[in-house]
Formats: sequence, structure tokens, C-alpha cells
Amino acid sequence: MTSAADRRNWVFSMLRCPRCGSELRWDGDRPVCCGEHGDCLGQQGYPVVAGQPALIAFERSVLSEAAMVANAGDSPVRRSKPVGLMRDAVRAALTRLEGGSRSAKINCRRFLDRLKKDASRAEPIVLNVGGAVVGSGAESLHDGSSGTGVVCFDVYASSETDFVADAHDIPLPDCSVDGVWIQAVLEHVLEPERVVAEIHRVLRPGGIVYAEIPFLQAVHEGAYDFTRWTDTGVRWLFRGFERIDSGVALGPGSALLWSITVALAGLFRSRKLGRLLGTGLFFWVRFLDRLIPRTFAIDAACGLYFFGQKSDRSISPKDVVASFEGVPI
Ligand SMILES: [Zn+2]
Repeated sequence: MTSAADRRNWVFSMLRCPRCGSELRWDGDRPVCCGEHGDCLGQQGYPVVAGQPALIAFERSVLSEAAMVANAGDSPVRRSKPVGLMRDAVRAALTRLEGGSRSAKINCRRFLDRLKKDASRAEPIVLNVGGAVVGSGAESLHDGSSGTGVVCFDVYASSETDFVADAHDIPLPDCSVDGVWIQAVLEHVLEPERVVAEIHRVLRPGGIVYAEIPFLQAVHEGAYDFTRWTDTGVRWLFRGFERIDSGVALGPGSALLWSITVALAGLFRSRKLGRLLGTGLFFWVRFLDRLIPRTFAIDAACGLYFFGQKSDRSISPKDVVASFEGVPI
């Protein structure tokens, strides 16, 4: 790919109507569904926000077209607010103390190595679902060093995204990508099973998925936070995939630090103060993650990961029980 315009055209050629799966064309400055039957709402056109097509079936989404257009594609949750340099520095220091997912960085390398080994294309295509902000440990997906064609979407536009979409209706054809990366997203969708079915649909046969999923975490992103999973819950959610690996992304120490922070926030009636005191005084609690063995960590993790390969058969209910790797009762 030689230019930003070439890249935009390449991505647009892959995109499909999220309502009916038909191809899209530009009608003036709006992408329009080319469906033949004349009854797809997409034929009225989709908005473009911050220069990116917003391919969403708004009538069945938590997202609103009017709000999205009014906010020029900004996050419905994270509105950018001007903050001072001092506050930026404190925030950056707290983020550093909170640390990130150590396993994500290692797993990102494994994910990319496997893609390059298996792919039928010279440059395998990775779909990054919900990647408007670079995920912890996922930097190599975004910095151009991955040797893959990374296509990224989220529910809002950013410099990392190529288009805006709702993961319940991914606007891509069946079997069109080699890998899907989805980190800290599934708790924020109303119907995770449908989103995982969409991931399965857009992956080519034998394509791979890497997902990070919360277990013991307080509510974040306000109203846009719906679900949590145990390790066997994650396995059942991804039952249409063969397991390559799964495990702990963030351990019980990280979960404890998060709980301390939100408890302090409640005591002081301030999330900012809770984070400042909790992380400032108790940041070391997360290092307990390094001392807790895997079986115990799986049962009390802050976050879990699942690394799998698309399969044409689903595991059975008995298989999911047999997959348990925590502490036996
Ligand atoms: Zn359509």
C-alpha cells in the first residue's frame, strides 16, 4: 500500500452493508448499500464521521446516529476533555503504577508469528475489534511492524481506526480475515455470543482469534459495561474455536488493587481520589500476581485470555466442564 488514499480504498473495497451484507458504493459523500431488493435501510446511506464510514444498523444498536454525527465520531464514553500538564503527568504516573497485561505483549507476538506461518496470503489480514485506543501489549499491531494488514474499527473514530461499526454486525464478508484481535471489548457489548459468532463468520477457515476478557473487575465505561466471565465461561463463549491456549491476563493481585481503588473511591465519594490513593499507596499489591500459581490465579483473575482457531465444530457441554483448569472443588 502506497498512500493513505490507497489504504482507504482498499479498506472500503472490503466493507459491506452491516444490515444485509451487500457491497457498498459512494453516493456523494455517503456510503450506500448496493442491495438489490430495495428494502435495506442502508440504501438511505451511512454517515461519515471524522472522515470514516460509520457502518451501523442504528435501529438495533446502543449507538445513536444523531449523537455520533453531533460528536463527529468521538467516543460515546471517553469524551476528550482539556486537562493540564500536571494532571496529565499524574495520570501517566498512575497508569504506569497500575501496569498492564504482561501476557498480552507475549501473546501478541505468538499471534503474529502463527498468522504469518499459517496464512495463505503474503500479508495476512488482522481485524482489530475495538482498537480505537491501542490495547495494553498490542503496540506491535498498530506501529506498522507486524508484517500484517491490520484493519481496525471501534464504536468511535480515532487515528487508529479505519471505520466505525458495532461488533454485533461486523461490516465485512464471510471468511475475509486471517486473524481477529479483541481486547477488553466483550464486556461492553450487549450480546457477546452474537459478537463471537460474527468473529467466527468473518474469519477464514482455520483463522485465529485472541481475546482478553474481564473476570473480577468493577464496572468501567459506565452504562456501557454488561458482563463478566470465568475461565470455563470464556471457553463456552468461544466454543466454536479450538483452544490454542488460554489463561490469566491479569491476576488476583491486579483484581485486589482494582477493588481497593473502587472501595476508596466509594469511601471518599470520588473516583479520582480513589484511584490516586488506591494506586498511589497500594500499587505493589498487583505484584502478588507473580507469586500466585496458575490454578489459583485462574479462579480469581482480574482478566483472562483465550487464544483459539476457528473450527467447524463446537465443543460440547461436557467438553467445557473437562476444560476447567482452576482449583478442583
Ligand atoms: Zn444493505
